[in-house]
Amino acid sequence: MPNYDPITLSLRSQDLTGRIFGRLKVLSFARYIFVHSQHVACWECQCTCGTLKVCKADTLLKGTIKSCGCLRREMHTKNLLAQTFGKLHVIDFAGYLPKDSIHPRAYWLCICLCGTSKIYKATHLLSGTTQSCGCLRREMNIQRNTQGRVLPGKTKMPEYTIWCTMIQRCHNPKNKSFQRYGGRNITVCDVWRYSFKAFLDDMGNRPSPRHTIERLDNNQGYMPSNCRWETPYIQSRNTRHNRLITWNGQTNCLADWGHMLHIHSSTIAYRLDHGWSIEEALTISVR
Ligand SMILES: [Zn+2]
Ligand SMILES: [Zn+2]
Repeated sequence: MPNYDPITLSLRSQDLTGRIFGRLKVLSFARYIFVHSQHVACWECQCTCGTLKVCKADTLLKGTIKSCGCLRREMHTKNLLAQTFGKLHVIDFAGYLPKDSIHPRAYWLCICLCGTSKIYKATHLLSGTTQSCGCLRREMNIQRNTQGRVLPGKTKMPEYTIWCTMIQRCHNPKNKSFQRYGGRNITVCDVWRYSFKAFLDDMGNRPSPRHTIERLDNNQGYMPSNCRWETPYIQSRNTRHNRLITWNGQTNCLADWGHMLHIHSSTIAYRLDHGWSIEEALTISVR
């Protein structure tokens, strides 16, 4: 009888009877199998769905197995549309693979907060194995290896925040500014998009807290040849809002009108966008 075999005894010493692993409840000892020149105990389990299954002790203890297979099947039939997993947002069903399998795996198209879109397996999303396109790890590496790092007790570099925001408004459709950037095909060049270090090397440190990143040509994206640190006044001359306005025979850009009349240029732009006449927009004083 195996009970007298010392190896068997030591292996059986871990009695799993009655223990619960995920959806599986261990009913009784089933048998030994011989794997890689070792005896492995197998236990008869019952899944919450009622199915009986014999499972190897190590797969139960490691958590590799949690159900008779029904959990996995459910994951692949679940509708994940519009759900969010970490930085990934599910935007479309990609299909089942392999097609001829009895247990096909569901795949979903996701867009990452960084703007990258990619297809992922349902189980990887639901189990939390996949939480970003890989940018999460890249960001952590950047923080560790370059000047964008977060030192204990210190906040992030402002250039790093600017870099993140720039990518967000160009590549994340959920960003509130996306329409005015990504929506108009304003993108961040690949070198900058995937490397904060490259961005910082090209742009240098921000000269002062009043400086922001500005594109020389508003119809071109963010790339070394089109970007400069600017202070808000100079920048406002370049914005799309800043059209030329003729009033009383004089033509000036919106920023100059604002300066002359002591009305903030964005107030004038807002008024014009909301149906005010040029006369009203330029003459009615701000309370
Ligand atoms: Zn089951
Ligand atoms: Zn990403």
